[in-house]
Amino acid sequence: MHYFAGIDIGSTAIKIVLVDENESIVGQRVSGSGSMFYKYAKESLEQLTKDIGISLDDIAYIVSTGYGRKLFKEADETISEITANAVGARKAGEKFGTIRTVINIGGQDSKAIGLDEEGNVVNFAMNDRCAAGTGKFLDVAAAKLEIDVDELGDYHFRAGGTPLPINSTCAVFAESEIIGLLGNEHSKEDIVAGIHFSIAKRIIRLTKKVGLNDVIYFDGGPALNAGLVAAIEDELGRELAIPDYPQITTALGAALLAKEGYSFLT
Ligand code: ADP
Repeated sequence: MHYFAGIDIGSTAIKIVLVDENESIVGQRVSGSGSMFYKYAKESLEQLTKDIGISLDDIAYIVSTGYGRKLFKEADETISEITANAVGARKAGEKFGTIRTVINIGGQDSKAIGLDEEGNVVNFAMNDRCAAGTGKFLDVAAAKLEIDVDELGDYHFRAGGTPLPINSTCAVFAESEIIGLLGNEHSKEDIVAGIHFSIAKRIIRLTKKVGLNDVIYFDGGPALNAGLVAAIEDELGRELAIPDYPQITTALGAALLAKEGYSFLT
């Protein structure tokens, strides 16, 4: 049996997906990017192969993608994260229907991708200025509120009344705005909900540039945050399509493209 690896070296996290010849996921791993993208990605791939009991030699083809994709020397091919995200979304989102709009919030940027009926990328919009409305923005806010990012959802649902307006578009300025709100005795819950709604408004504005078509698929690490999901759904007035493992969509797309790349060789 041959295996195919997709390695998404993001600004914040390294995601790896291994698929087999039937395009079934046989392994997946998420780990921190830290400061040594190549070293950590290589270690993570070794660990994943060990965990599922295969050897690195069983991997027939590797496609790397993401911010640090060019650093992964062993990759047979590198592919842009827009392409890999689109391919992964179509596969992981099959159960929701035909995906024509993808929202991705990553560690340091957010994007919206428009696809045609066949899954080809027709347009995209990206915001990477100042980590506005990204995972980094949420990480900075959570640290200032002394809570973990995976608790943000619970805090959101305990908020009362109208969400607080958060005006900062920059992760750095958001921190001082949060300090000000805490100083005015606003609860952490209300601040968290305010942050989620401010990100939701911003991502919807960005997505409108590519069109809010049919099923709207949401992925990236922040899609694990149920509070943020609820805020985007509230603002949109409809449900989002969220896969079981939203953080690995782009790595899955890269793994599927690895399988395709290998088929051209053989
Ligand atoms: P990148 O590809 O740019 O490295 P990711 O898509 O991996 O980014 O997203 C990383 C972000 O996901 C983190 O900054 C964090 O805010 C968020 N995140 C990761 N895990 C969780 C979780 N369990 N709950 C909420 N947010 C999370």
